[in-house]
Amino acid sequence: MNIKNLQFNNTNILENLKSIKNLILITDEPLSKHTSYKVGGNADYFCIVKNLEQLRKIFDVCYPKYNIFILGNGTNVLFSDEGYRGVVIKLSGELNKLKISRNLITAGSPVSLSSIIKKALESELSGLEFAWGIPGTLGGSINGNSGAFGSEICNLIKNVKVCDYNGKIHNFSSNQLDYGYRYCKFPVNGVILEADLKFKQSSRKEIEKTMKKNMKWRRKYQPIESKTAGSVFKNPEGMSVAKLLESIYLKGKAINGARFSPKHINFIENFNNAKAKDIYDLVELAKDLIYKKFKIILETEIKLIGFN
Ligand SMILES: Cc1cc2nc3c(=O)[nH]c(=O)nc-3n(C[C@H](O)[C@H](O)[C@H](O)COP(=O)(O)OP(=O)(O)OC[C@H]3O[C@@H](n4cnc5c(N)ncnc54)[C@H](O)[C@@H]3O)c2cc1C
Repeated sequence: MNIKNLQFNNTNILENLKSIKNLILITDEPLSKHTSYKVGGNADYFCIVKNLEQLRKIFDVCYPKYNIFILGNGTNVLFSDEGYRGVVIKLSGELNKLKISRNLITAGSPVSLSSIIKKALESELSGLEFAWGIPGTLGGSINGNSGAFGSEICNLIKNVKVCDYNGKIHNFSSNQLDYGYRYCKFPVNGVILEADLKFKQSSRKEIEKTMKKNMKWRRKYQPIESKTAGSVFKNPEGMSVAKLLESIYLKGKAINGARFSPKHINFIENFNNAKAKDIYDLVELAKDLIYKKFKIILETEIKLIGFN
């Protein structure tokens, strides 16, 4: 969640961030190191937050004057080559919790989906197999209501814990969330801390079978070895965006080191030292051509940060 259009002024912020006990703080950190596209300029401040206290203190220092960006595994974002004027926060440490109680898994937002799925498998709990192969964290996935094979992560949520930018903790049950195709909104703006996910009892054999089938499909149809951020555009209602893109011959279309994947047209690959701008230009090209031909406004699934 990005707080936009705020003036960023470096005076005092560094000193204030430095005063937060045991906070890992890096200045001018290349975001290309933290995103699956492997592009993006520097973040002014990059904080690795180990606990709630540190998070609240960062909010104290920054909110509402400075930009704050919560980064998961960076597999659904495109930062511009100019980087991020503000504070990028990565959650870790105590917030990385993962525990099971009967058919409920409580996971912290920085926990990877694959760790949750593996944990569920150990206890023969079924429900998240559809996400096997989605390389994100729980927080990033809830934020965009990740989905595949007709299932979505928000359907598993029982409760979710959110810290608002004033440091107040909220517990929302699933019926308080507004979610749908690749979005999830909360009654307050803030950071997802953790969620309780409901699973169903199943057998190890069945769960593994579904995981394998899903991964086989991904390997066959998606460029999972390439530097991508998954599907670039959402499907317009009742339509396949892949078909629209194919109809205007964008498969393989390249701008410098970025191209629409020859394997899956709705993925853009950084295949040869692309800049963020190359990826962005492909996004804009597709939007432009699709609008001209079909009068359809494409919406991106990936989050574009720092582009005007
Ligand atoms: C090969 C590949 C395949 C993929 N397949 C799929 C797929 O099948 N289905 C699908 O839906 N997606 C898919 N994706 C996209 C992506 O992996 C998912 O959207 C993923 O869940 C994003 O998680 P992340 O941790 O990487 O989030 P990030 O990219 O780090 O962040 C995404 C957004 O979530 C916000 N965010 C992150 N953590 C928090 C938090 N704790 N609180 C509040 N906001 C937060 C960020 O600010 C940002 O706006 C794929 C990506 C790749 C590279």
